[in-house]
Amino acid sequence: MSTVFWNGRLVPLDQVRVSVLDRGFLYGDGVFETVRVVGGRPFLWTQHMRRWRAGAEFLGIEPPMTEEALTTAVGQLVRANGIQDGVLRLTLSRGPGPRGYSPRGAGPPTLVMTLDPLPGQTGPTVQWRVRTSKLRIPGPDPLCRFKTCNRLLQILARAEAEATGGNEAMLVACDGHVIEGSSSNVFWVRSGTLYSPGPEQGALPGITRAWVMAWARAWNWPVVEASAPVEEVWEAEGVFLTLSTWGIVEVTHWDDRPLQSWPGLTALRRAYQEALQAAAHAG
Ligand code: PMP
Repeated sequence: MSTVFWNGRLVPLDQVRVSVLDRGFLYGDGVFETVRVVGGRPFLWTQHMRRWRAGAEFLGIEPPMTEEALTTAVGQLVRANGIQDGVLRLTLSRGPGPRGYSPRGAGPPTLVMTLDPLPGQTGPTVQWRVRTSKLRIPGPDPLCRFKTCNRLLQILARAEAEATGGNEAMLVACDGHVIEGSSSNVFWVRSGTLYSPGPEQGALPGITRAWVMAWARAWNWPVVEASAPVEEVWEAEGVFLTLSTWGIVEVTHWDDRPLQSWPGLTALRRAYQEALQAAAHAG
């Protein structure tokens, strides 16, 4: 049985108790992070911490632990579970509160971290088929910038895609513009330029997306933060997704249309693999 970090201590999974009055359970009133662990270390941890803190601040939830203490706890969780390569999930909810939406009087916050093995072979050759969701994602709003626990749209979109043989659902805004995957950011390439919708268009500011954008710019590849209609993305020289759990994933089919395969993706994925390996062995 796995060991969980729960409100400051390590406990076996079956001993964790979260109240039925917890607002994370009742309303998705919280923020979380999903972090790739490599060689026992959380990859791009500083960036994840920054987004998580920004989300907690936005919701007005005071994290009950310092970043330093959390980092120590991650090391303990890695050792307790014996998982060197895996996926860390950090959840902070507002905690239990009085009946109703008002956050007044709620708390103390609930903080949980779990660590799981990788969901599959996450190497540089993963390819996915995606499906356009029938559900529509709201345009840019303040909530899209944070990884809140409120994920109903993404859950339903993913279920819809999986029911028709897709690995991932693509979310489109009311005007038909592509925004992001249910759990990933999207990139496409046109005339050597990388395009990726960001928070200005309504997508989560993904940590892996930021890594790819920084790497591309360092290599003088132009990057534009913009969206485009689905039909335009289908014509791209290549489409790929970014997410912490799987890294960089090539999209081979979109609604059963075969997409082009972009040669630059090999170098990009190799660089990402190298960064992961370097982080695994960092002092
Ligand atoms: N968009 C959504 C809606 C997500 O849930 C995720 C996964 N966290 C991403 C994008 C990718 O973000 P990251 O690279 O930080 O995992």
